[in-house]
Amino acid sequence: MDTSVRTESERLFKRAAQRIPGGVNSPARAFGAVGGTPPFMKRGDGAYLYDVDGNRFIDYIGSWGPHLFGHRHPMILQAIQGAMEVGTSFGAPTEAEAEMAERVAEMVPSMERVRMVNSGTEATMSAIRVARGFTGRSGIVKFAGCYHGHVDSLLVAAGSGALTLGCPSSPGVPAGATADTLVLPYNDPQKLREAFAASGHLLAAVILEPVVGNMGCVVPTPDFLSELRRLCDLHGTVLIFDEVMTGFRLSAGGAQQLFGIRPDMTTLGKILGAGLPVGAYGGRADIMQHVSPVGRVYQAGTLSGNPMAMAAGIAMLDLIRQHNPYPRLEQLGAMLEHGFRHAATATNQPIQINRVGSMLTVFFTAQPVHDLATASASDTGKFSRWFHGLLNRGIYLPCSQFEAMFISAIHSDADIAHTLSAAQQAFADLK
Ligand SMILES: *Cc1c(COP(=O)(O)O)cnc(C)c1O
Repeated sequence: MDTSVRTESERLFKRAAQRIPGGVNSPARAFGAVGGTPPFMKRGDGAYLYDVDGNRFIDYIGSWGPHLFGHRHPMILQAIQGAMEVGTSFGAPTEAEAEMAERVAEMVPSMERVRMVNSGTEATMSAIRVARGFTGRSGIVKFAGCYHGHVDSLLVAAGSGALTLGCPSSPGVPAGATADTLVLPYNDPQKLREAFAASGHLLAAVILEPVVGNMGCVVPTPDFLSELRRLCDLHGTVLIFDEVMTGFRLSAGGAQQLFGIRPDMTTLGKILGAGLPVGAYGGRADIMQHVSPVGRVYQAGTLSGNPMAMAAGIAMLDLIRQHNPYPRLEQLGAMLEHGFRHAATATNQPIQINRVGSMLTVFFTAQPVHDLATASASDTGKFSRWFHGLLNRGIYLPCSQFEAMFISAIHSDADIAHTLSAAQQAFADLK
């Protein structure tokens, strides 16, 4: 299947770029890192996306995570339609919000209290504010390579491996906004101990992706996570798991269930909204008591808890409970991992594959990848060529070496087989 003709996408991309910066409403969608024109999508169905030129792609992005059961799942469409017919937004409390909060707390028991917001960015921004209000401290620790949305205090350059005081990585973020942000390398318990020894009493929170997706897939070591938990307990620092990506993807209870670590606060998004704009934050009741109107930490949203979004999210959580998709996701993930490995070996391409369940990245490097420094050693030029080789054969992967691909529970064995034969040809073309 040749999907390289994208004339109509090219026309639309030029048109969009006249009025929208870079032609896109989120930079991850532009092909900045890999070059070329992104296909403009017209329709999604199950595991497939169809662009405006009539090309079909097997979708391994799933809207960057949300579509755990593929596009247009009938139960989710029905839920949205049902909610829509009785009103799109009330700005007043509804039963669906209580229902959603109960289900989240049931599936992620560390979230004793839950507040709904409209994006992952809002969730992490709010969680940081609440942790600061609760502890009366300002300092936060984030890890190089972790992404937590475009929150000012979290948009901090990754000082490669070094223990650096954060400086903003985006113009427009004042130095003051990141002055209290400490950046540490991921998977380095020793650096963590040093940071807590020096300034534990100043630290309101540590925030991390408990499996990283945003520098490509990077897996935490068990001693990194257990040391984090221990040090936060010792110093009264709030441990925040940013599960916007991993929540409901790695297990029904997220990465925290998978690894058996209970964070103090958790942020959710992506799958929780089933394709509508939803985020959530929550955690220990004594911490969440500080949120307005019970407490004094202010956080609000005109459309928060929107009825269509709640209906979609509840339908998603229903689907997860009814189908337990995780064994199948693990099976599909393992098939892809082994197939990619085999194809790379057959064509003599040195690669690393990091995977947890249905999150996976193929890194073009000969060395294991466990933090930003090792991820950055990847050959991004090779990745770009491999990416386009797959795209031109109808396989839609994230357009950057430093993103994770997502598998849905409705990808078929035939989809995987087709993907692997395309991947093998794309590897061979790299020579
Ligand atoms: C996507 C993502 C965010 C940001 O969510 P948005 O809905 O894009 O604002 C935050 N944290 C993690 C781990 C993410 O993957």
